[in-house]
Amino acid sequence: MGLVDGLTVVVTGAGAGIGRATALCLASEGAKVVVSDIDSNGAAETVNMIDKAGGTATMIAADVSKPADVAALIDMAVTTYGKIDCAVNNAGIEGKVSPFAEQTEDNFDRIISVNLKGTFLCMKAEIAAMLHSGGGTIVNLSSVAGLIGFSGLSPYVASKHAVAGLTKNAALEYGKSGIRVNAVCPGGIDTRMLDSLADQATEGTQTSAQMMDPMHPIGRIGTPQEVAELIVWLCSPRASFVTGAIIPVDGGFVAQ
Ligand code: NAP
Repeated sequence: MGLVDGLTVVVTGAGAGIGRATALCLASEGAKVVVSDIDSNGAAETVNMIDKAGGTATMIAADVSKPADVAALIDMAVTTYGKIDCAVNNAGIEGKVSPFAEQTEDNFDRIISVNLKGTFLCMKAEIAAMLHSGGGTIVNLSSVAGLIGFSGLSPYVASKHAVAGLTKNAALEYGKSGIRVNAVCPGGIDTRMLDSLADQATEGTQTSAQMMDPMHPIGRIGTPQEVAELIVWLCSPRASFVTGAIIPVDGGFVAQ
């Protein structure tokens, strides 16, 4: 029996990177996965991968910053599988790297609207569905940038600290209703997002591994699978006494 056998799990931003690895890992542990992404081709490819591995998944394109898209996502999950047991609010963007005083309002608004407002909208709809069905579990994607600062990433750092705040508040408001809410804080993880950050920070002179391996006490950046393993455990009944936790999965990054 899998860790999340028979549970219905919604994953946003599941068309690539950490979201895709999480969707695959959840399906391999027995979950029925609702794969959602702004990129419908990426989401379809993730569903294809789950199908090929013998799992159960369905997809819907949704931009988490748009309330109507989020409502359609949650409606579709409930209509298809009857209820939502878990939700992984993973969709996020890195935006432009630049010093604080040169950050544009446009970059700030874009990052906040996807990373913060998108997480807020998803949580609101997921909590409403979970209250209706008697409980559930939410895992949000914060970051080591939700625990400490990073030069050049002010709006992203603010958005990820705020995700940690939403996580704590929902955990304390809904603990007695059977809803657990936690956040994971990955260090550098080998995805398109980290490639973009390294590219911007080094003007294309270093790969993400070249730039970030030495920053991690463990000596390397992580894989999407290594984050997925923690998320799946948090979704599972094995984590029954864990709520309101903001948990690094970072090769020791924030221990420094
Ligand atoms: P990624 O490889 O860029 O994948 C993110 C996925 O989310 C992409 O498929 C992207 O589609 C989609 N997406 C973007 N905007 C969206 C929106 N408005 N609505 C729905 N989907 C949207 O990123 P990742 O590295 O896997 O990151 C996943 C999460 O982990 C993010 O919240 C990120 O902040 C967090 N995180 C990542 C790292 C890291 O080192 N990689 C570290 C700490 C935290 P498009 O490609 O079409 O934009």
